Amino acid sequence: MNLNGIRETSGALRSGKISCVELARAYLDAAERRNAELRAFVSLTEETALAQAAAADERLRGGGESSELLGVPFVLKDNISTAGLRTTCASRMLENYVPIYDAAVWELLRAEGAVLIGKGNMDEFAMGSTNETSYFGGARNPRDTSRVAGGSSGGVAAAVAAGLAVYGIGSDTGGSIRQPASFCGLVGLKPTYGAVSRRGLIAYASSLDQIGPITRSARDAAAVFDAICRRDGLDMTSRGREGVSGSLTGGVKGLRIGIAREFFENLPPDIDGAVKKAAGLFEDAGAELVEVSFPLLKYSLPAYYILACAEASSNLGRYDGLRYGYRTEEYSDLDEFIRRTRSEGFGAEVRRRILLGTYVLSAGYYDAYYNKAQKLRAAIKNEFAEIFTRCDCLLTPTVPVTALPSGGALSPVETYQTDICTVPVNIVGAPAVSAPCGFDTDGLPIGMQLIGDAFREDILLNAAFAFEEMTERKYLTDAALEVIA
Ligand code: GLN
Repeated sequence: MNLNGIRETSGALRSGKISCVELARAYLDAAERRNAELRAFVSLTEETALAQAAAADERLRGGGESSELLGVPFVLKDNISTAGLRTTCASRMLENYVPIYDAAVWELLRAEGAVLIGKGNMDEFAMGSTNETSYFGGARNPRDTSRVAGGSSGGVAAAVAAGLAVYGIGSDTGGSIRQPASFCGLVGLKPTYGAVSRRGLIAYASSLDQIGPITRSARDAAAVFDAICRRDGLDMTSRGREGVSGSLTGGVKGLRIGIAREFFENLPPDIDGAVKKAAGLFEDAGAELVEVSFPLLKYSLPAYYILACAEASSNLGRYDGLRYGYRTEEYSDLDEFIRRTRSEGFGAEVRRRILLGTYVLSAGYYDAYYNKAQKLRAAIKNEFAEIFTRCDCLLTPTVPVTALPSGGALSPVETYQTDICTVPVNIVGAPAVSAPCGFDTDGLPIGMQLIGDAFREDILLNAAFAFEEMTERKYLTDAALEVIA
């Protein structure tokens, strides 16, 4: 079981069962073979992977201390900057953009000897929940390729779930790590705002964006989080924190788990049943279930979409065709140049959000929308603060649906509504984990979400780890590449 987790892969490399270069080659070949079908990667980074792997073999031969991530293949979402390697945000606007600097997370992982296999497909500029806004066509779900992998970090989740990378790094503005993890039967950690540096992450909504891992187990999520949760002097919102791997005891005795009724309203019975069954198992293991209430849940979604679009309209103002990125060919003056560049370079969903964001920030509507959303943000923060005086974490479903069929099954607004359980977390900057806890009647994975107070990733990952132990890891996706298995 779970033969291809980080520890197992690292063990195989250290025992000499396979070299880092052989392993990288095997992953690259598998990714190459399956990518046309899954569209998990926007680009494969073969040269970088093989060079990193050769250096990792060298370090292993030299002996001495090294990280568990040394030589282990992984995937990075394509909105995380990699110097010299195309970084597209799955947008026509950045189709040929090659950054000149590295994101902080990539610097950290590379220093540990991690092997980058490729850049993960995503919704354009991370705006979406299905991957279908990707300029390159959305990633498909390895569990059932007629379904979406989720969004926006769907390519990362598809790669990990299909065994084309051991783990992945995504970004989460309103659920983009947790939701694809849930759709693909994986663990996704959205860290506390500020725990991981955002330097080099191409911004969507800066007060909500956070980088984190998508993995096949809670243990792997902790291992990756430990490598990237460093303070970074070049990101003024970065705080960093201590590593959490040491907190994974598997004990939940006395843990107070809050259940807020609002998260369970109008759920399909199989999702409701799976999450409540998980709550029962926690209780059997000695946790205490505490009834709490979160009446502001229904306001979280409109508040989120107002704030996210407002920030996006400002962040995406930089794409004017003058400095970098796509530029139109036909124009008669500067105004037309910028207008055409932006209309042609951005897809429909990105344009919709820029318009919406510009609208809510405009002089006549600022108070009615943006200011009101900011006030809601403060109220939601207070509500969470009150909840965390009564319990150590909240248990909710991650998404009120399982992986949707491809092909635009829902309208834009219906799609936004599926983010209801994940967005409150970003609004308050809290950490949350999605972990697999069951299957629906079609055999598709169901995820549960554990939400904690700021910087309590340790509690969340330990609870997820405990759940894996008590259910004998039966809900985890284990895509074993034969070279290791
Ligand atoms: N689905 C949400 C949105 O479209 C969240 C996306 C994200 O977390 N990047 O805004």
